[in-house]
Amino acid sequence: MRGRAVRAHSHPDGGTTLTPSNAYTRPVHEITIVGGGVAGLALAARLDSRRFRVTLHEQRTQLPTVGTSLMMWPRAQEALAAVGILGAVSAASPALAVGSLRSAAGEPWLMVPARGTIAVSRPELIRLLESAVPDSVRRETSRFESVSPEGPGVLIGADGVGSVVRRSVWGESTRARLTPYMAVRGVVPGRLWADHSGEYWGRGDLFGIGPAAGGTNWYASFHSGFRPELEPDGIDVERVLELARVRFAGHARAIREVLVTADTERTLAQRIWTTPPLTGYVRGRVALVGDAAHAMTPNLGRGACEALIDAVTLADQLNSRPVDVALRAYGRQRLLRTQALRLGSAAMMRLALAGRLQPARDLALRTAGGRRRKSPPPSN
Ligand SMILES: Cc1cc2nc3c(=O)[nH]c(=O)nc-3n(C[C@H](O)[C@H](O)[C@H](O)COP(=O)(O)OP(=O)(O)OC[C@H]3O[C@@H](n4cnc5c(N)ncnc54)[C@H](O)[C@@H]3O)c2cc1C
Repeated sequence: MRGRAVRAHSHPDGGTTLTPSNAYTRPVHEITIVGGGVAGLALAARLDSRRFRVTLHEQRTQLPTVGTSLMMWPRAQEALAAVGILGAVSAASPALAVGSLRSAAGEPWLMVPARGTIAVSRPELIRLLESAVPDSVRRETSRFESVSPEGPGVLIGADGVGSVVRRSVWGESTRARLTPYMAVRGVVPGRLWADHSGEYWGRGDLFGIGPAAGGTNWYASFHSGFRPELEPDGIDVERVLELARVRFAGHARAIREVLVTADTERTLAQRIWTTPPLTGYVRGRVALVGDAAHAMTPNLGRGACEALIDAVTLADQLNSRPVDVALRAYGRQRLLRTQALRLGSAAMMRLALAGRLQPARDLALRTAGGRRRKSPPPSN
């Protein structure tokens, strides 16, 4: 199915907060979710099937098989618990004890405790979220080309950074923005991460090494320029890997080892896109969740975490309150935090990928790291 349009329009719904005892006497509502990624699946899994008839549209025809690790912070793990899959996710995901920030040569500048953070494989996360979606949810394998905000029911845009729902309802000025950076990532065999994990910041580039189930997760970002061979629709992974090998040839040995081992089957390359700032995630009975609302640069490792929290917040509001009240409450609860994270990630990207200011940045971080090491541990 291709190019179908969904429509969502308002219809009256009572004005008082529903308590669990009377919530299910309310009429059943239609909810259409566009996008079955992290946010769309979590929302479909958490919505109360006694109150909502849910249809989930996803363009992909099969589950992803290649993917790298996503850091899941404690609040995102609470969302996973709400969806009922935290146990299974944790069992399949190595935990992080400490995060370190290093120079390009591998010198550790700062060590940050990362207790409670786990690294989940994206394909595994999607598979587990899929398994949590109840059979009552109607599934459509289709791509929406446009939507109109008039029609029965509630429409949720969970369709990622290039969201058709956002562009159709919020306007073309909210088209995704292209950053000049490339993200390359993959998984290599072995536990190189055990001694070399952390993020390595160079001049205009960064490289990350961390745990993955059954191997070592790695990622790299650098200025890609706007060369045609690196355009989003036609990225040649082999060529990008070659570029990365040249780019990181003078960096720490662990980085070079990763890149020598990396192969095209287990490597992904993409340009980094973001969502422009929005002042609201709800218009009438249309709402945005996840990257559709606030795709940010990956530098804080927060996008999928916030997508999960959006989904559970929205579902819990919808499950317990009148629809219009619930949508507005969702927007209020999620807007400021996610927009702040969007700005924070962008600032972190500028710092991590600093060019001219790199020597001053390195000096400041080395000094800060030295001070931290010298200060006595806090007494309990
Ligand atoms: C290099 C990199 C590293 C990252 N690392 C982390 C990390 O460590 N931790 C973290 O929390 N986040 C991380 N993120 C961010 C994270 O990947 C995203 O924030 C997350 O995937 C957003 O989920 P989503 O469901 O909103 O969107 P998506 O995952 O993009 O899902 C959208 C879904 O909608 C479908 N779709 C799109 N358009 C249509 C349409 N028109 N019709 C039908 N279906 C459609 C797509 O096929 C897709 O399945 C990283 C991102 C990048 C690029």
